[in-house]
Amino acid sequence: MRGSCLCGGVQYEITGQLGDITHCHCTTCRKAHGAAFSSVAAVQIKDFNCLEGSEFLKSFQSSPGKRRYFCSNCGSHIYAHREEQEHYVLRLGTLDDDPEVRPVNHIWVSLKAPWYEIAEDAQLPQFSEWPDDRT
Ligand SMILES: [Zn+2]
Ligand SMILES: [Zn+2]
Repeated sequence: MRGSCLCGGVQYEITGQLGDITHCHCTTCRKAHGAAFSSVAAVQIKDFNCLEGSEFLKSFQSSPGKRRYFCSNCGSHIYAHREEQEHYVLRLGTLDDDPEVRPVNHIWVSLKAPWYEIAEDAQLPQFSEWPDDRT
């Protein structure tokens, strides 16, 4: 499975299985992506290979211990990484192939954009913050 940024400078491949897809409505995702929410899935770091353009990848610490990696040429967000975790949280909008996993929930709905209604995905569970008891 392959993915790339908007300008094509960053090219990557995923060699393993992705986790389930989550739609995250938190404020930092909305601002990072300029969108109502961000669709993400976990990928093990060992399964993520940057094929081209790793020199374009820059990161921004959007909350303590969490960095968001993006193409410094076009601004596409590729993944986020929380310190000490062995997976990246892949930004699925950059995929060029079907990940063969599907959305399972919406998280951080407490911070959802007021102008967006989750009507078309109403069958998915919604969590005001994280789906588990993490802080
Ligand atoms: Zn780019
Ligand atoms: Zn988020």
